[in-house]
Amino acid sequence: MAGMKMLTELMGELEHQLGVCMRCGMCQAVCPLFSETGLEADVARGKLALLDGLLQEMFNDPKGVYERLSRCLLCGSCAANCPSGVSVMEIFIKARAILTGFMGLSPAKKLILRGMLSHPEIFDRIAAWGSKFQKIFTRPANELIGTSCARFVSPLIGNRHFTPLAKTPFHRRIPSLNTNRGGSGIKVAFYVGCLLDKSFPHIAQDVVDVLRHHGVGIFMPKGQGCCGMPAISSGDTVTFNRLVRHNLEIFDAEKFDYLVTSCATCTSTIKEIWPMMADKNSGYVKSRVAAIAQKTLDINQFLVSKVGLEKPEAGDGANPVDVTYHDPCHLKKSLGVSAEPRSLINANPAYRLIEMPESDRCCGLGGSFNLEYYDLSTRIGNVKADHIRASGCSMSCHRMSGLCAPNFRYAVQVRRENTDQTSHRNIRRVVEKFGLTRIFPKERPGDFPLDKDKISTDSILLTTGINLG
Ligand code: SF4
Ligand code: SF4
Repeated sequence: MAGMKMLTELMGELEHQLGVCMRCGMCQAVCPLFSETGLEADVARGKLALLDGLLQEMFNDPKGVYERLSRCLLCGSCAANCPSGVSVMEIFIKARAILTGFMGLSPAKKLILRGMLSHPEIFDRIAAWGSKFQKIFTRPANELIGTSCARFVSPLIGNRHFTPLAKTPFHRRIPSLNTNRGGSGIKVAFYVGCLLDKSFPHIAQDVVDVLRHHGVGIFMPKGQGCCGMPAISSGDTVTFNRLVRHNLEIFDAEKFDYLVTSCATCTSTIKEIWPMMADKNSGYVKSRVAAIAQKTLDINQFLVSKVGLEKPEAGDGANPVDVTYHDPCHLKKSLGVSAEPRSLINANPAYRLIEMPESDRCCGLGGSFNLEYYDLSTRIGNVKADHIRASGCSMSCHRMSGLCAPNFRYAVQVRRENTDQTSHRNIRRVVEKFGLTRIFPKERPGDFPLDKDKISTDSILLTTGINLG
């Protein structure tokens, strides 16, 4: 059981926050889960009502309360649209921490979170092993969008498509960096994040290349750990605090002007959840978390607001490609970043942005929600895929998020299998041609000449180009 002091403090904070909900039910209209199930227990109002009696229920049926709470994508749609400003995400995260603190972690989660995730070196070794042997258990599902699926029948994986582990993770390509401020006069710390490091190292590489291109100095310390989101969303404050401390020790906020990340989930975790949940009783943690959170920016935000956009050259806009854009929940609803990625797209005369219906509707992944409630996750993802198709665009892009990217690809893939196969041939061509250099911000004297043809769709704007036919 977690420390009674911590549990009591969290319970006190919860009690205060729960009183704000007016039970108006406005959250029903925006909850992607409720729109699939129609169950009051699935929407924020139902969960908050349940938590109102948490103290009593925790002793009666803690497992039942936890299970009902875990039926949630943590997408933040309810919080972003609540007229009373209820801190729904904060309440859910604290409630999970209280319940896990009371019940303890399941053996499987203990093994994954405390045995692997909380030790970056062990995590790296296990991922390296997984990368080497993954072909025994998985096989390519779609070569063009680079997804895999299970080779044998697997109850855990089912018929999911997922992005395999990269052969060489980013930390093996570039273990660390500490370059001088270039022409921009800015120095950033680059927090890579687990998914970019282990599954999308080319995106991390492109971020480094673009920062260098614009004369931005980069501090990238060795041995970066997970941001802690998988741990805290399971209520594991022990692993979460260990990871926060680990990262605080290697990222000294005095060494850089901004900390940039290219994963929406990592950004919102560092900026919002670290200050909310990291060990408040330690002055060291509190002050360093505050300093880092204040300097943390999403890469789109950084490029648009700190480096600056260049006006497109006239005459470059003949036959622009129509693209549509998906807002990841953690970027728009948690951090309010939605204009900057659009500014980047709009600044490129080669592309025309067409909005899809409900561009900020959740993709349905929700981290472990996808593992526990696979059918629901798929149904929610299918709605997203239909919205993308409804945009009529030949290409879709989404700001990379650790949580939504895999489900997004999967949903589109499943929809495609049920519709038209002819567009497959074009995907790679589209991806390779989606040169984003011209939607880059204003050039500054950097030390790295970019080869425009080598910048892929999964880069800078951190988009995934998918030809939807
Ligand atoms: S969480 Fe907000 S929107 Fe939902 S019932 Fe409570 S006050 Fe209304
Ligand atoms: S976070 Fe998302 S899934 Fe969870 S209750 Fe709120 S709107 Fe529904």
